[in-house]
Amino acid sequence: MYQVLLYYKFVQIDDPELFTQQHLELCKQIGLLGRVLIASEGINGTVSGTAAQCDAYKANLSADPRFADIVYKVDEVDTIPFHKIFVRLKQELVTFNADLPTNPSQKSGVRLSPKDFHAMMQRDDVVVLDGRTDYEYDIGHFRGAIRPPIDSFRLFPTWLKENFEHLKDKHIITYCTGGIRCEKLTAYMLEKEFQNVYQLEGGIVTYGKDPEVQGALWDGKCYVFDERILVDINHTDDRLPVAHCFHCGKPAERLVNCANFECHRQHPVCEECEEQTKRSCSVECMNARHRELM
Ligand SMILES: [Zn+2]
Ligand SMILES: [Zn+2]
Repeated sequence: MYQVLLYYKFVQIDDPELFTQQHLELCKQIGLLGRVLIASEGINGTVSGTAAQCDAYKANLSADPRFADIVYKVDEVDTIPFHKIFVRLKQELVTFNADLPTNPSQKSGVRLSPKDFHAMMQRDDVVVLDGRTDYEYDIGHFRGAIRPPIDSFRLFPTWLKENFEHLKDKHIITYCTGGIRCEKLTAYMLEKEFQNVYQLEGGIVTYGKDPEVQGALWDGKCYVFDERILVDINHTDDRLPVAHCFHCGKPAERLVNCANFECHRQHPVCEECEEQTKRSCSVECMNARHRELM
């Protein structure tokens, strides 16, 4: 049995280059595998090892006052989902391309627990904004949430400017997979003089594990950025499928990559259409020269 730790912290790191080197040494000494991003605005990691290795890592970070209050999401796994350790220096923890500096360690949206988020999203005077991209929304989302028509998080600032200005005095609650994108998004919205901005603490994955709300009002599945691809969030009886087969339109909660090497487009597909199209997103791809063997 192994553990996967997911965490982030927005906090000023004064010499991120030196810290990156030291942190790589630390991870190697402990023997952890995974990926850690470091920027002057903070740290974001997914690391894996035995429980003892993960405990040693957490103890080490806790001893540093900058990281003492990090909240770790812990998953138990049978095999370690990484082959290497990467510790990388970045400009931003999540690329956002804002036209104003954002500083989530100073100011970001009010954090809502899963229970408070669940209650608030049902109020008439509240706008629920998905803090992710269109393809993530199309696989699953909170019921009634607004879908940003963007395929990259860095397009958010422009989209907000063009479509959201009139909602500046509304109560706006945002959510994303693990919480880190909403830190940036809500920090930016506050800079842009939105008045009442909130974020789901710990993101959708934490919401899905909350014993009280049990993922209620989440429809479909949740897209995650590891080899699991899609995970269940809503564990109540009230859950609607939202993804539809790219070809025939029937409900299909599974994603595949187009078998054409030059395309590789990720799309939802039902089992019949997958077979008929040889897992291709178009006729051109079905007849392409360089295809994965089925
Ligand atoms: Zn189909
Ligand atoms: Zn294709």
